[in-house]
Amino acid sequence: MKIHLLGVNGPFPESGGATSGYLLETDRELIQFDLGSGILSRLTARTAPEALSAICLSHWHYDHTADLPVLLYRLQALGKQIRIYAPEDESSPVFRLVSSEPSFILTSVRPGDSFQIGDLTLTAGPARHPVPTVGYRIHTAEADWGYTGDTNTHPDLVSFYQDCRLLLCDGLFPAESWGEQKPHLSASLAAQLAADASCEQLVLTQLNPCISPRVLLEEARALHPRVTLARAGERLTL
Ligand SMILES: [Zn+2]
Repeated sequence: MKIHLLGVNGPFPESGGATSGYLLETDRELIQFDLGSGILSRLTARTAPEALSAICLSHWHYDHTADLPVLLYRLQALGKQIRIYAPEDESSPVFRLVSSEPSFILTSVRPGDSFQIGDLTLTAGPARHPVPTVGYRIHTAEADWGYTGDTNTHPDLVSFYQDCRLLLCDGLFPAESWGEQKPHLSASLAAQLAADASCEQLVLTQLNPCISPRVLLEEARALHPRVTLARAGERLTL
């Protein structure tokens, strides 16, 4: 199982970068998690998007969905459809577009929902963010991995991601900028989560181009032995 980190920034990309987008590749399935700004081009370099098993969205903020309206043009041109799993959010123009277009087959998910994509079982998990948001836990025969989407602290995160071998986690803020009412975790809170949930490996993502990655890494490494920062173009193997 491989996870291609296509874009790792938020809420806007660095020069030459892209916002959230992660491609899960197994022997049988290709599943795209989030489709932010700049992701469609990078995804298309690896596979025809309409060949995906599905797209799973954490939420509808534009840095996670901006390329969906452009993907629609491709699907319409080719006469193809694609399945999308996501929380419902009528406040989002992208949600309203996707839910009204027959090129997209939209299935709404809530925390606690499990569903099957081919031989994979996915479970939607808790998140605390200003709009309806889920994280995902992906169960495979080899190992489980988790993707938090955007979230601040939530009492159920530790149990939801317990024993994931790899946790791809929002760690946007340095400790000095984090607050209880902010929309994201800090790097150190992400590391604490991964440690409390006994996740072997932590990859910090949702990296803001204005925040020093060195500080995030130092703060996280004080609390977890295996932390890296997500790098666009990187391939993680589980
Ligand atoms: Zn967000």
